[in-house]
Amino acid sequence: MAISGRIKIAEALKSATGITVTVKGWVRSKRGNKQVAFIALNDGSTIHNIQIVVDFSKISEEQLKPVTTGACLRATGTLVASPAAGQPVEIQADDIEIYGTADVETYPLQKKGHTLEFLREIAHLRPRTNTFGAILRIRHAMAFAIHYYFNEKGFRYIHTPLITASDAEGAGAMFRVTTLDMEQPPKNEQGKTDYTQDFFGRETSLTVSGQLEGELCAMALSEIYTFGPTFRAENSNTPRHLAEFWMIEPEMAFYDIHDNMNLAEDFIKYLVRYALEHCADDLKFLNDMYDKELIERLHSVVQTEFVRLAYTEGVDILLKSGEKFEYPVSWGIDLQSEHERYLVEKHFKKPVILTDYPKQIKAFYMKQNDDGKTVRAMDVLFPKIGEIIGGSQREENYDKLIERIKEDNMSTDTLWWYLDTRRFGSAEHSGFGLGFERLLLFVTGMTNIRDVIPFPRTPKNADF
Ligand code: ATP
Ligand code: MN
Repeated sequence: MAISGRIKIAEALKSATGITVTVKGWVRSKRGNKQVAFIALNDGSTIHNIQIVVDFSKISEEQLKPVTTGACLRATGTLVASPAAGQPVEIQADDIEIYGTADVETYPLQKKGHTLEFLREIAHLRPRTNTFGAILRIRHAMAFAIHYYFNEKGFRYIHTPLITASDAEGAGAMFRVTTLDMEQPPKNEQGKTDYTQDFFGRETSLTVSGQLEGELCAMALSEIYTFGPTFRAENSNTPRHLAEFWMIEPEMAFYDIHDNMNLAEDFIKYLVRYALEHCADDLKFLNDMYDKELIERLHSVVQTEFVRLAYTEGVDILLKSGEKFEYPVSWGIDLQSEHERYLVEKHFKKPVILTDYPKQIKAFYMKQNDDGKTVRAMDVLFPKIGEIIGGSQREENYDKLIERIKEDNMSTDTLWWYLDTRRFGSAEHSGFGLGFERLLLFVTGMTNIRDVIPFPRTPKNADF
């Protein structure tokens, strides 16, 4: 029996023997002797390669010369049980067609075992490595699972704008969007740049968050989520920050902070469980190669109940810890990742949801507590990562919201539309933002955020 057309290597590896198959992919290695060559071929459908066995009595050694690591080819032949360990089947080739060669002298991925730092310099080729194949498949699976999860729960997917006129929440420095001539911008009477002549007739930037627009839609559709790119021009060259990253932001009418925390915990556990079920081969590879505790850590997060703790209690624990922190701890500080990780990794040894932060360090839209000092914020802190989710119950009271905006010296001019939700049919509501790449750091066990996005955007780096 023959299967016409190409089949994916993932499928071929699971097929019954005796059939004729055609596979297409990139050569990972070629070895052999005078009579026969063994080609390991990969097409990205799985971490596993399929072995193509070429008998020189059928296909000449000469014809196989250009088949080197990195070349792309088609192989057609019979699927047979493999005598080699670790692979159920292999292909006895009848026919090989070379699509594209890869010069041995110049193809950078000749050998295995390149460092992640080196691979970052060849981001255009690193998808061809086992590591990035695994990461990109997991990234896909997580994106799919996110939509699946919310769809099942009746949340609507909302596309919020990427170009915005509001400094959404002071969440981070913004990238300006303009069509003005940077060399000679038009000036107004005060000698300042005249943005009325700009494309949108005002100053605009790339968004740092889709939350504010998300809230508008939640106050109509009840439960919504966004999942899109966000941009922050923060010049912090850390292993956990990107200038362009993807964020998932659910917003829910009629949810208080407890409903919000329950959703966040259930959501993350669902995603980790999904990865364990659907990405087993890729996770095993990453576990074996990079982080021997990865799979164990993923299982443990699914099984444990997250700690829920007020910021004030968290600060007490840090103060009593006797630990020497680089940044000293006192009530009112914005916790550094060393503090977050102490609570999660050393003190509780499980994920922590920290709530009720001082209002000075949180955004204006968070609901104020009756103590006049704290707001109903909830950050989810994870082992190895620190903050993975930032969220809150939102302030639904118009007057209190205005008061906070004034306290923060913000202008209401660009926020009037947001304030309207509190003037017309306001209600209790909540939401949070999950950084997609922070989630992927946790799920893949990678330690640098540049390694979980195909083409990272960081300070001084937008090459590929
Ligand atoms: P951090 O304190 O870690 O810089 P943040 O408090 O500024 O984060 P939020 O504004 O609360 O972040 O954004 C929500 C989520 O988006 C964070 O919990 C995190 O997962 C993710 N995130 C924030 N900034 C970045 C970034 N520069 N790169 C990647 N992910 C980010
Ligand atoms: Mn935050």
